[in-house]
Amino acid sequence: MLPTQTPVLIVGGGVTGLSAALFLAQQGLAPLLVERHPDLLIHPRARGFTPRTVELYRQVGLEAAIRAHSYARGDGFHWVAVRAETVAGDWVRVEEPPEDHGAADASPSGFAQIDQDKLEVLVRARAQELGADIRFSTELTSFEQDDSGVTAHLTHRSSGASSRVKAQYLVAADGYASPIRQRLGVGTDGPGPFFHTLTAMIDADLRPALRGRRLSIAYLQQPRPGTILMAHDEEGRHWVFGTGYAPERGESTDDYPDERIIEMTRAAVGLADVVVTLRPQITGTDLKVLGFPIGAQVARQYRVGRVFFAGDAAHIVPPTGGLGANTGIQDAHNLAWKLAAVLRGQAGPGLLDTYQAERYPIGLLTMGQALARWQARIGAGSGSATEPLLDYGSLTFGYRYRSSAVLGAPDNGDPTLPPRELAGQPGTRAPHLPVTLEGQHRSTLDLYGERWILLAGEGEGGAAWVGAAESVARRLDVPLHAHRFGVDLDGSEGAAAHGIGADGALLVRPDGFVAWRAAGADAEPAVTLEAALRAVLNR
Ligand SMILES: Cc1cc2nc3c(=O)[nH]c(=O)nc-3n(C[C@H](O)[C@H](O)[C@H](O)COP(=O)(O)OP(=O)(O)OC[C@H]3O[C@@H](n4cnc5c(N)ncnc54)[C@H](O)[C@@H]3O)c2cc1C
Repeated sequence: MLPTQTPVLIVGGGVTGLSAALFLAQQGLAPLLVERHPDLLIHPRARGFTPRTVELYRQVGLEAAIRAHSYARGDGFHWVAVRAETVAGDWVRVEEPPEDHGAADASPSGFAQIDQDKLEVLVRARAQELGADIRFSTELTSFEQDDSGVTAHLTHRSSGASSRVKAQYLVAADGYASPIRQRLGVGTDGPGPFFHTLTAMIDADLRPALRGRRLSIAYLQQPRPGTILMAHDEEGRHWVFGTGYAPERGESTDDYPDERIIEMTRAAVGLADVVVTLRPQITGTDLKVLGFPIGAQVARQYRVGRVFFAGDAAHIVPPTGGLGANTGIQDAHNLAWKLAAVLRGQAGPGLLDTYQAERYPIGLLTMGQALARWQARIGAGSGSATEPLLDYGSLTFGYRYRSSAVLGAPDNGDPTLPPRELAGQPGTRAPHLPVTLEGQHRSTLDLYGERWILLAGEGEGGAAWVGAAESVARRLDVPLHAHRFGVDLDGSEGAAAHGIGADGALLVRPDGFVAWRAAGADAEPAVTLEAALRAVLNR
């Protein structure tokens, strides 16, 4: 039985919807997620997750599991990309331009080489452990909203049973075509889909074609240019086959039955008699061939009333740079603590407007950067002018929020900072510093996730800020913890690394972004801090 009420209904069980469920559950809510398919998709899709994304999962205890499920265990792993006529033929190694994931000192977490399908399994399990209610084979068929909430009509796809759920808010994580976004009449900016690819999961022993050579991805000329085979294991037996198709000329995935994909795979491999079988992409279905668009678009609005768009529903970007899924996960993280704060009455409803104010510019920035990488590596097709490439660290760590949930971010239009320059500036991700917490080597980032944090210096002014934080937390009934560098956080240099003096303080939001800071002491710290917190909470 489905519940009849939920604080937040999430539509879509891809990586964005699952992450929204996880981060809302981390905030102590019990959201309801509905996914129309009977299970998760078995397809790697995105194969790399940025250190910033890993930081978010680290806060919910998933970092070790992500490392354990990496496809790149051991130091000997190298991504091998080649161009060839067929897999059996001669290869030309493609040197993918290095993305400086670097900024090694900027984060306690490294880049995660894990397939999206493996990650989704972990995220679902952890979300359920923390209290999220996740239902498959359940489709949102219609909804309406008014001042009191969103009424959603759901249909169970195998039994046909219909039900009604009343939610306070709805997160539309329903993918790039987003029926919810279309129903609300929200248009998109950007070139839109400009290449269509179909993919199949293949079981085939390609070792005779590999002849001892290792392969991560092959860009092939046969059976037609634009074909890829991507390894889905290290043994050469499981693969993803992909090739372009033309929906604009009336083609559909139905034009590619199993036999045709098998023939195309044999041509791509260059072995006419290799045994190829197609795997269903969703457990319990016969869905073996999927089409998906490569393109770039950003929704003009991220919010309509009580409905919020996240992930591909809000933006799609070409895969160059591996930014798409990561950006969706960050959307979910930005939204979750805000919804929780408003639902608990700790923040005013205006806080929810900051989701659009903060994430929409990041959607545009990411689209421009992914398009620039596409044009640099793949060439034409996207039809837009290239903008200058930002380094990967600035793009994935250094973006800066400007909204009413941040006080004092300079209005100089500078969208990002290099990770080494992150030093507690309002609107930026608070810097990572190694610290000892409960006797363990940890990071200051491990303080964030569930509550507001005030970090203060070791001087008397710092002590006054800490005292003020305790009284303000009580008065506003907001979870706010305070720490002092050089007192309960080792390393008095931590204050300088956050841009404050020994008598200063800064306020970090539950998502780890700096909301406000005071460089030094204040005559009335409780008054000043309360005013700052009220302002950023929009109350
Ligand atoms: C085959 C394929 C290959 C890809 N390859 C890459 C890649 O190599 N690199 C990369 O960066 N990105 C890739 N992507 C894109 C990347 O996977 C997406 O950015 C990411 O999956 C977005 O996640 P999402 O949760 O926002 O949307 P989706 O993963 O699209 O999930 C949306 C979900 O919503 C569900 N849904 C829709 N409407 C309803 C409804 N009314 N009721 C209930 N459920 C509903 C859908 O069934 C779907 O499961 C690929 C995508 C696909 C499909």
